[in-house]
Amino acid sequence: MMRAWVVSDPRPVNQSPLTLVERPVPIPARGEVLVRVRVCGVCRTDLHLAEGELAPRRAGVVPGHEVVGEVVHLGEGADRFRTGDRVGIAWLRHTCGSCRWCRSGGENLCPKSRYTGWDADGGYAEFAVVPEVFAYRIPTSFADEQAAPLLCAGIIGYRSLLRAQLPPGGRLGIYGFGASAHLTAQLAIAQGAEVHVLTRGEEARNLAQQLGAASVGGPLDPSPVPLDSAIIFAPAGELVPLALESLGPGGTLALAGIHMSDIPALDYQRHLFEERAVCSVTSNTRRDGEEFLVLAQRLGVQVTTTPVPFEHADLALRDLATGHVRGAAVLTLAG
Ligand SMILES: [Zn+2]
Ligand SMILES: [Zn+2]
Repeated sequence: MMRAWVVSDPRPVNQSPLTLVERPVPIPARGEVLVRVRVCGVCRTDLHLAEGELAPRRAGVVPGHEVVGEVVHLGEGADRFRTGDRVGIAWLRHTCGSCRWCRSGGENLCPKSRYTGWDADGGYAEFAVVPEVFAYRIPTSFADEQAAPLLCAGIIGYRSLLRAQLPPGGRLGIYGFGASAHLTAQLAIAQGAEVHVLTRGEEARNLAQQLGAASVGGPLDPSPVPLDSAIIFAPAGELVPLALESLGPGGTLALAGIHMSDIPALDYQRHLFEERAVCSVTSNTRRDGEEFLVLAQRLGVQVTTTPVPFEHADLALRDLATGHVRGAAVLTLAG
């Protein structure tokens, strides 16, 4: 048996939607590996799932899709890893491989895609299984705790940056500064961008400054300069018109979240004319993941984490909801 946190009944996070239970250790199916979880990052998506903003797809699902652990058993036919290998389990865990999106490099849009900690049990547990072709090898320069947030916060941030079409040396606005934003800002800065961070929370603003942001301000402040690109990481639709107004002509706004509150009405002249564009970001391809992990190592991305004992997963979600996490919260399992 193993210990696992499950979403028994989605409800507001201050009403304890997570329950710690005993479950049988999962058995890896064909092509899967069994992983002993060492750490699991806490992502905003887990919070959306626990609170019911993301409709549950499996009763009593174990959340968590930023898993770093050790392969302890190989399912039938699995030969990509050996027992003892360190692997990462991320959000995307299945695609059909034959639809028009899968065949054209857009597997993140596959209608049959399935996700860890939503369609299948994730890493808020002592063990988890994963199809080996969706697991990642993790660059050796990252310790377990630092590696975990790379697997969703990092990869999604990387895709958001691609979607935001930031020109070389361009000006990037970042709205919200949690786990994903603090990694994305470093990628952009290391590649020569000028980054302006607009976020609530003194500590988040301090971290942004330490990481080399050109300016920091509150989320409702106008950007000090016209932006070439912007990314909204906060799940707050009311920021969309503000960010669009801060874009210069031809600028692009990417919305990085899986869930966002309602977006107010837009004014064509103020928010969209002059070829300003707005786009969403939906999951990621495995290629995004592989590219990002290489880049994160090469650029020496520094991952700021707040470790939380596994037994306190419910408190970690609560802290995330109230904006009281510096960098990324990571659940750590003893021994
Ligand atoms: Zn497909
Ligand atoms: Zn995530």
